[in-house]
Amino acid sequence: MSVAILFATNSPTYSNTLINLCRELYPEVEVYLPGDVGAEKAKLAACWSPDQKLLQQYPNIELIHSVAAGVDHIGADLLSSGAPVCRVVDDGQKVGMFEYILCGILNVQRNFDKAAMEQASQNWQRYPMRKRGEMRVGILGLGELGGFAASQLAEFGYRVSGWSRTEKSLPNVNCHFGVDGLQTLVSQSDVLVNMLPLNVHTKGILNEDLMSQLPEGAYLMNCGRGAHLVTKDLIRAVNRGHLRGALLDVFNVEPLPSSDPLWTTKGIFITPHVASDASKPEIIHQLVSNAMKLAAGQTLNNQINQVLGY
Ligand code: NDP
Repeated sequence: MSVAILFATNSPTYSNTLINLCRELYPEVEVYLPGDVGAEKAKLAACWSPDQKLLQQYPNIELIHSVAAGVDHIGADLLSSGAPVCRVVDDGQKVGMFEYILCGILNVQRNFDKAAMEQASQNWQRYPMRKRGEMRVGILGLGELGGFAASQLAEFGYRVSGWSRTEKSLPNVNCHFGVDGLQTLVSQSDVLVNMLPLNVHTKGILNEDLMSQLPEGAYLMNCGRGAHLVTKDLIRAVNRGHLRGALLDVFNVEPLPSSDPLWTTKGIFITPHVASDASKPEIIHQLVSNAMKLAAGQTLNNQINQVLGY
């Protein structure tokens, strides 16, 4: 079956990388960039922050496919266009996210964050060690990534709680849901990890109100999206000592501008949106698989609920 894919990311370099890989793995699949002759044949658009006029320019597109786990970058116009939206779900990415979260927790649990600050002033300072079973870890979002991390952390011996929209049950994870569930989880988290998708309900959820409910000295990790966090509230909470610090991987503007005070706030550790990527071959396999399912009229993999926004 012959299928065609339009690679509509906001980076021609990235689109070309995916196109070259697709040609290598699936020589029979036709691949196009916007503007290419023949691009109008494509029914699937592989997207990262696509042009919001994509469907006007390419009316034959029937399926919008994120090249990542998240879909917020697709944009409100395209998400509400009525065309189905799918995303990538990659087991390797789940492992990578778990590793990132574990690394962030260990950094705090074993006081490496404090050691780095002491090193700056050549201060030999030993801090008491905490055991895994003493660390209460709260995970916001118990989906593909958050759910996997919660289970792995629980298996590794942490005291894990999780929060989702609907009721969930995971072995050894104290599961909460709804507004009351959020308060309970937050008030009992020494480390709070945000693994929610970004949508109208979750935007700005990491704000002063939520942070004030965290125990004194708690640590925040944002692995979701930049717009989940109200930056000025975090800086205030860290500067006044209510929070020990934060590990941030995602930002409203990426790359994070050099003038942003997050760079220089003591206790805030920044990584450049590297928590965990889906592997490029896996992205291509899932795009091609869904392009074929679309052509055959079959049920698509990893289709999101457009009303819920994830
Ligand atoms: P999923 O869609 O699989 O899971 C989302 C989870 O969030 C579900 O448990 C869902 O609850 C919960 N949720 C959604 N809305 C609400 C709400 N309003 N209140 C409470 N809980 C809610 O997402 P993934 O785990 O695959 O990915 C999560 C996000 O991680 C992505 O959207 C992306 O933004 C980010 N990400 C970041 C990366 C990085 O490198 N920093 C890499 C990859 C992804 P329920 O189970 O009840 O539906």
